[in-house]
Amino acid sequence: MRLSRYLLPTSKDNPAEAQIVSHRLMLRAGMIRQEAAGIYAWLPLGLRVLRKIEAIVRDELNRAGAVELLMPTLQLADLWRESGRYDAYGPEMLRIRDRHERELLYGPTNEEMITEIFRATVRSYRDLPMNLYQVQWKFRDEQRPRFGVLRGREFLMKDGYSFDLDEAGARLSYQRMFVAYLRMFARMGLTAIPMRAETGPIGGDLSHEFIVLADTGESAVYVDRELLSLPIPGDDVDYQGDLGTWVDAWATPYAATEDVHEAERFEREVPAERRMQTRGIEVGQIFYFGTKYSAPMKTTVTGADGNDHLIHGGCYGVGVSRLIGAIIEASHDERGIVWPDLVAPFHVGLVNLQQGDEQTDMACDALYTELTRAGVEVLYDDTAERAGGKFATMDLIGLPWQLVVGPRDLKQGLVELKRRATGERETLPIDTALAKLLKDAHRAAH
Ligand code: ATP
Ligand code: MG
Repeated sequence: MRLSRYLLPTSKDNPAEAQIVSHRLMLRAGMIRQEAAGIYAWLPLGLRVLRKIEAIVRDELNRAGAVELLMPTLQLADLWRESGRYDAYGPEMLRIRDRHERELLYGPTNEEMITEIFRATVRSYRDLPMNLYQVQWKFRDEQRPRFGVLRGREFLMKDGYSFDLDEAGARLSYQRMFVAYLRMFARMGLTAIPMRAETGPIGGDLSHEFIVLADTGESAVYVDRELLSLPIPGDDVDYQGDLGTWVDAWATPYAATEDVHEAERFEREVPAERRMQTRGIEVGQIFYFGTKYSAPMKTTVTGADGNDHLIHGGCYGVGVSRLIGAIIEASHDERGIVWPDLVAPFHVGLVNLQQGDEQTDMACDALYTELTRAGVEVLYDDTAERAGGKFATMDLIGLPWQLVVGPRDLKQGLVELKRRATGERETLPIDTALAKLLKDAHRAAH
């Protein structure tokens, strides 16, 4: 992508309305634009990150056996009357009437609709377990939308739903999602800790919130430090096999949000030097809810015994748009964002230090063509901006690599390569720099 043809409205000034660093940096880096309270337009750079996050989410869920579909954002109120939630939901639900005075709502979540789809299409225990998910915009009329995409009103969520014949099956579905979540957040460069969460009236031990530690987080959390160094299940993890060991390893050490925190237990179970009290951002939640929806909505399958069984359900949410804020909270410095490789909007920023100088332009064009052809995503700063401004923009938008080409080094066939995360710079022959970038892009993609 040539910056001269791109829409990247960056700014040097800190926007007054932004209270936390991720919100400030997203606005300054030209990733989003607020169109109404808690409602954002995704500008090109922000959209690229959103798509990268979606891709990781899909990849891990598909691997775990979940199947993607897409439901509409608008739903009939009558569907929600079946579960009793239309009246219970309260002012967070955006209620709408169409021209025929039919009552609709903009979905804040989709348990009812997915149950309706399942009820109409699946009849037999042989089709189970089933796990269906979508990545779709949600609307919740939050009382206090704030912190940019961390608490929006319109936001992108991955919502998944599992269907099993009984509780034992539902536990296995839950474990598959638990492991998939560990892997997906790790691939985004995040440490997200599963913490025991409130299960509401059904009780039980099967709900976890996945929380990224950050001082700016909305929830106070209490964590056994041991969790910070636990291994993540590898590529070879077998979703058909026994995942209990992984779940136990991660779910046993103490980790709780303030809602369910038990101070006495924390002190008893965790040695003082391992006790950590901090704040965190909820990026996902998994939940087993049994027959909460299948009972009122009469959703059954025929079992091997020939009888009808109410299905046992679970739901699994990921805050796709919120994750961008969480990643920036976890990965930035005083100059801007530092994207983890796999979610970076581009892999390389190519900086032409003397736009209009024939040799420099030619060298940049050749590098741009070659990298792009090899599948490396390059943002090429071919604008007339002065060098200082170009460097500041590159640091602000945080691409993993900066490839800097100027007339002086070029006379000796050299270019400069800078790693954004460490600030390390190397002056290298053009071919060496190119080979290094190709190799690294290949490594990052695998
Ligand atoms: P919160 O407690 O933060 O309000 P929630 O528990 O109500 O969230 P869930 O129903 O569990 O949210 O939704 C699944 C995921 O969607 C959450 O884990 C979170 O990452 C994301 N999410 C929820 N509300 C918002 C919001 N207003 N803006 C952005 N992301 C959100
Ligand atoms: Mg939640």
